[in-house]
Amino acid sequence: MAITRVYIEEGCIVCNACETTCPEVFNVTEDSCHIRSEVRTDGQQDTNLQAKSPLKEAIGTELADQIEEAAEGCPVEVIKFDKG
Ligand code: SF4
Repeated sequence: MAITRVYIEEGCIVCNACETTCPEVFNVTEDSCHIRSEVRTDGQQDTNLQAKSPLKEAIGTELADQIEEAAEGCPVEVIKFDKG
């Protein structure tokens, strides 16, 4: 099943694990993890916590396994996603 959106809740400890697992989607900055603008339909780059912008359809299909793996590997469980 495709992932329709992914966002980061507060509490990221900038460990870099998600970017290592799925660099196409996650960009770890100095204070949090951002969802890359290239994969979002709104073209913005931030945690996506407020906007909850959908992923571009091809991304949500092609990278679903990696996004899920990154969420499972987050030590503080702040990577949230919806499936559709
Ligand atoms: S794996 Fe979790 S804690 Fe680590 S950088 Fe990514 S979102 Fe932040």
